[in-house]
Amino acid sequence: MRICKYCFRHFESIHFWHLLRPPLLCPNCYQQLEWHQRVEDWHGYKIESLFDYGPTFQKMIYQFKSNLDVELGSIFIDQHVPYLKLKYWPFTLVLAPTHEQDLRVRGFHPLIEIFKSIGLPMLTLFEKNRPYRQSEQRGLDRQHIKNVVVLKPGLQIPKNICLVDDVMTTGETLNTMIELLKPISPKHLKILVLARKKQEKIEITTRIKNDKIRNWKHQIWHG
Ligand SMILES: [Zn+2]
Repeated sequence: MRICKYCFRHFESIHFWHLLRPPLLCPNCYQQLEWHQRVEDWHGYKIESLFDYGPTFQKMIYQFKSNLDVELGSIFIDQHVPYLKLKYWPFTLVLAPTHEQDLRVRGFHPLIEIFKSIGLPMLTLFEKNRPYRQSEQRGLDRQHIKNVVVLKPGLQIPKNICLVDDVMTTGETLNTMIELLKPISPKHLKILVLARKKQEKIEITTRIKNDKIRNWKHQIWHG
C-alpha cells in the first residue's frame, strides 16, 4: 500500500514495473495529468513535450511552484526517468532562466527539482536581469523577454545541449535562448518541456506513436 504524493489517498501498486519504480502518484492522479509525449518540429528544432497543459497539470504545477510544495517536484517525470535518461544521454540539460530574487524567495529551483532524477548534468547558462514572469504578461509584452534573458558570462558551453523548461506557451523564452546560443553554435540542440499547450497540427506518425505509448501506459496501470 502506498500514499499518493498529490491527493494523499492510499493505493496499491499493481504492476511488475512498479517493483522497479514504485509510483509516487495514484492511478487516478496520474491519468488526470494527461501524459501525451509529443515530438514536434518547431522552427527547425525537435521539441518534446510530455504533458498537456490541462487543468490537473496546472493545479499541480501551481501547488509545486507557487505554494512551494517542493515534494511535488519529483512526481512529473517519475515513471519516465529511464526513457529520458536513455534518450537525452549525453546531453547537458540547460535550464530556462530564472531571476535570483525568485530563487531566493522560493528556496528551490523548480527545474532542478523536476529534472534532477534523470541524472544528467544540469547547467544554468541563462539568467533574467530583472524579475519577470512570462505567464503574467499579455500580448506584445511577452516579447519583452528578449530584453530580460541574458547569457551568463564566463561559462563553458557544452557541445550537446538540451534546453529544458516546465511550461511552453508562446515559445518566446525558448526562442530567446536559441537566439543567444546561435553565435556559439552548439553541435546538437534539443528541447524538452514538461507541458505544452495543445497544438492544432500534429504529424500523423507522431499521433500513432503516441496512441501506442498511451495504450502501453494504460496496460501498465490497469493490467
Ligand atoms: Zn492521487
